[in-house]
Amino acid sequence: MDIKELISKPSSEQRKALINKEVSALELTNAAYEQIELTDEKVAAYNSLTKDLAVETAKKVDEKIKNNEELPPLAGITLALKDNINLKSYPTTASSKILKNFISPFDATVTKKLKSNLIPILGKVNLDEFAMGSSTENSAFKITRNPWNLNKVPGGSSGGSAAAVAAGEATVALGSDTGGSIRLPASYCGLVGLKPTYGRVSRYGLIAFASSLDQIGPITKNVEDSALLLNVIAGLDEKDSTSLNQKVPDFTKDLKKDIKGLKIGYIKELCTEGLAPDVSETVKKSLEIYKSLGAEIIEISLPLIKYSIAVYYIVATAEASSNLARFDGVKYGFRAKDVDNIYDMYVKTRAQGFGDEVKRRIMLGTYALSSGYYDAYYKKAQQVRRLVKNDFDSAFKKVDILLSPTCPHTAFDIGSKVQDPLSMYLTDIATITANLAGIPAMNIPVGLDRDSMPIGIQLQADCLQESKLLNVAFQLEQAVQFDYSIPIKKLV
Ligand code: GLN
Repeated sequence: MDIKELISKPSSEQRKALINKEVSALELTNAAYEQIELTDEKVAAYNSLTKDLAVETAKKVDEKIKNNEELPPLAGITLALKDNINLKSYPTTASSKILKNFISPFDATVTKKLKSNLIPILGKVNLDEFAMGSSTENSAFKITRNPWNLNKVPGGSSGGSAAAVAAGEATVALGSDTGGSIRLPASYCGLVGLKPTYGRVSRYGLIAFASSLDQIGPITKNVEDSALLLNVIAGLDEKDSTSLNQKVPDFTKDLKKDIKGLKIGYIKELCTEGLAPDVSETVKKSLEIYKSLGAEIIEISLPLIKYSIAVYYIVATAEASSNLARFDGVKYGFRAKDVDNIYDMYVKTRAQGFGDEVKRRIMLGTYALSSGYYDAYYKKAQQVRRLVKNDFDSAFKKVDILLSPTCPHTAFDIGSKVQDPLSMYLTDIATITANLAGIPAMNIPVGLDRDSMPIGIQLQADCLQESKLLNVAFQLEQAVQFDYSIPIKKLV
């Protein structure tokens, strides 16, 4: 197989070629950079490249192959890292002007794990500033485009991660998900995206947006790679007090398990109203597939979903307003010039360093936390959040997996929602509840709409049930045989 084709495949084929010595890890890495050179001018996924590091890692892999040493499962498989995850000695910008020239002095825990698994990190990829957004249009640097149609958004906030994988500019990627930021771009770009259980993956070194909701997770071309990458990044970390002290199973082990008799609940509120017709058809098709595989299909009502956007935009903005207080021009990052005194320095640094959406969130969050409004907004939102979690708890007493679309519609045109924040916020109606409840959730590409844009199905499971989730996702994937190579062929 020609190397161009090989780098557009999932990891298993590349690993075979590596082990059979048909190709070297260095050749795979170099071919990925050639693809970036060829297509990233159009796609604009990467903020910066980390070629020295990737080449050094690839060479280590080749050394091991030469010496017939044991190779970690994803060794030599190229990865794009979301630019809000710290990578030592390289820029970590969160796509914000306030961190434009910031060089990270440390590795995030996930980054360390990537390195010890000999995964070449190709570069840092674009996002909505501080992961606030659904389209990657809120980046202070550039707008990433959807490789399936360059006039459309790739989704957000991990738009760079998804676009890089969809364009063949990396085999796999890491994103972060606070309200849907892994699953939405995966859905818009025809990829598999997994938000793990809250606490499954360490957040140490992820630039915090809303700490009680943030999780890092994989964006990949298939379910197997999602499981393999989760194997790499999951686990307890003493540097993150919210990381879970739970056994990490081999997430690939149950992929092929028979799902006969499993109960799949479709979420009434998300599957029946307000869907684009092609999305609605895809939901039906997925349920048919599961039925034919012997699963039992049950309707589940989650009436509190209608409050989830409101609750999220109080909880997330409250936490963001607190987390972003550290960007003040004193400790690191951008500092405004021509200031009269320290107060003036704070004000001008933050006024010039943050973009509009980030400022909007800081103001909303500060308001929700202010004395006098705390009980009316923040406390009430936390109470409703508890009720949302209770709803999921009772749903998972009845079913194993919940199914819905990942988004009511497919990728939208660049520019079409930027003037209307509320309509942008509504794109997350199906994804946000998983973060509020802390449960694992993923996107599986299932079909194309009439404009040939990918449609994704969201599967959700109870806390720590990633193995079951991946198993059910794998079965759907096998039945559908979604073609992720379409954009790669179109681009070159
Ligand atoms: N789109 C949501 C927001 O703008 C979620 C973002 C995310 O998951 N990081 O907050």
